[in-house]
Amino acid sequence: MNNDIQEVLFDQGRIHDAAMRLGKQITQDYAGKKPVVLSVLKGAYLWTADLLREVDLYLDLEFINVSSYHGGVSSTNEITLVTDIRSDIQGRDVLILEDIVDTGQSLLFMKELLAKRGASSIKVATLLDKKDGRKVIIDADYVGFDVRNEFVVGYGLDYKEMYRNLPYVGILKKEVYTD
Ligand code: 5GP
Ligand code: MG
Ligand code: MG
Repeated sequence: MNNDIQEVLFDQGRIHDAAMRLGKQITQDYAGKKPVVLSVLKGAYLWTADLLREVDLYLDLEFINVSSYHGGVSSTNEITLVTDIRSDIQGRDVLILEDIVDTGQSLLFMKELLAKRGASSIKVATLLDKKDGRKVIIDADYVGFDVRNEFVVGYGLDYKEMYRNLPYVGILKKEVYTD
């Protein structure tokens, strides 16, 4: 599996530093509040575990599963809600946890959904921000790292459901997905 990686971009140490930095910021920004943290499966599973251990707040943790990639290496315009939450978010402060924001379309989809359901605030904490990939105007509130316009895997991010267990984020060799 490690042999399929062209370049390691962010190792565990750097990701841990980012989790500490953002966790501290989120703890300050939400002081006195009890946010609903909405983790976007599957990609954000490790980021959620690491970031939230650096957050000193009472919070509710929920998981949502939206799909935009459908197995390939580029986003589709069609966003599907695979697994929804069951709790009521009316009047709640919602913090979305994402692995990566690329085109921004899945984030826009989720923000619109949460706004429609009456969330009183909606913010986003993403491990990675691929700003050059944007197709809609949207920004994350908390960003671990900016990443260039390459297909990355690891630390939650997959290619065909593989590589999510790599402990770092790296660029996947092109020969793995082209023939
Ligand atoms: P967006 O809707 O912003 O285009 O895409 C968001 C989702 O697409 C991310 O949450 C992630 O699951 C997937 N994605 C975007 N860029 C990458 C990438 O470089 N690598 C992988 N593995 N997934 C990506
Ligand atoms: Mg995601
Ligand atoms: Mg994926």
